[in-house]
Amino acid sequence: MSWFERMKSGILTRIRRDIPEGIWTKCGQCGETTYHNALARNHWVCPRCDSHLPMSHQKYLELLVDTGSFEEMDAHIVTADPLKFRDRRRYTDRIKESRRASQMKEAIHTGVCRIGGHPVALGIMDTRFILGSMGGATGEKITRLIIRAIADRRTLILVCQSGGARMQESAFSLMQMAKISAHLHQLANAGLLYISVLTDPTYGGVTASFAMLGDVILAEPGARIGFAGQSVIKQFLGGEELPDGFQIAENVLRHGFVDRVVARGEMVSTLSRLIALLAPDAESSPGEVLAAPAS
Ligand SMILES: [Zn+2]
Repeated sequence: MSWFERMKSGILTRIRRDIPEGIWTKCGQCGETTYHNALARNHWVCPRCDSHLPMSHQKYLELLVDTGSFEEMDAHIVTADPLKFRDRRRYTDRIKESRRASQMKEAIHTGVCRIGGHPVALGIMDTRFILGSMGGATGEKITRLIIRAIADRRTLILVCQSGGARMQESAFSLMQMAKISAHLHQLANAGLLYISVLTDPTYGGVTASFAMLGDVILAEPGARIGFAGQSVIKQFLGGEELPDGFQIAENVLRHGFVDRVVARGEMVSTLSRLIALLAPDAESSPGEVLAAPAS
């Protein structure tokens, strides 16, 4: 028997090492802690498990858009409170708080830009603004973006990230589903391409309308995509466990609701290739597009 026996495995220390906030980020999936700058270089993808961490609309702009080409649209359109809604808190207070947290006036940032040199009308949702929920102003901004895409003959790309329709606006929120879908129909009639990019999470009225109406539907790895949330479904099934991968992008792809799961690092090249293949004439006039080739 040895003279000294270690009672516990591992070396314990009483010194508490505080990690300064804003310098390191911990992965929610594997627990790996990574230096912020390293994560930024890796498009906020965990280097250990490839988990795609949440990104703000500003970071998606940096990731997707050709440098200096973005021109914001409709920044003046802001959320209204048509029902003077109040639950535990006033809706107007939630709006104020979300504006501070997200530096946005609504749950979507819209504008025109170039991606891989192609002209695009781009909308990016952001869950920091009331869970990326779709209110009247969100719908109006998307509608105006579609109208601009038709006028300029641009490809439309919507980066979806939403908890669904915004309950504080009730029917004013729900009617946006029909309004946006009708305008997407006009975009299709104009022969223009619409690509939707589903990020984590994409739920509710957004899934039930424009998120699933893309000519091509891409999704980020691991994104949760569905209508009702997992906890609601579990509750409805009397607490029954849901199968592995339920509502996760790779599983949704297997069931045919998504065309391709694309990692962030490959998103720009994938979008550029799709536009080059499916919308090569987007900038030319409608007459030129519809003209039959001389035989
Ligand atoms: Zn990880």
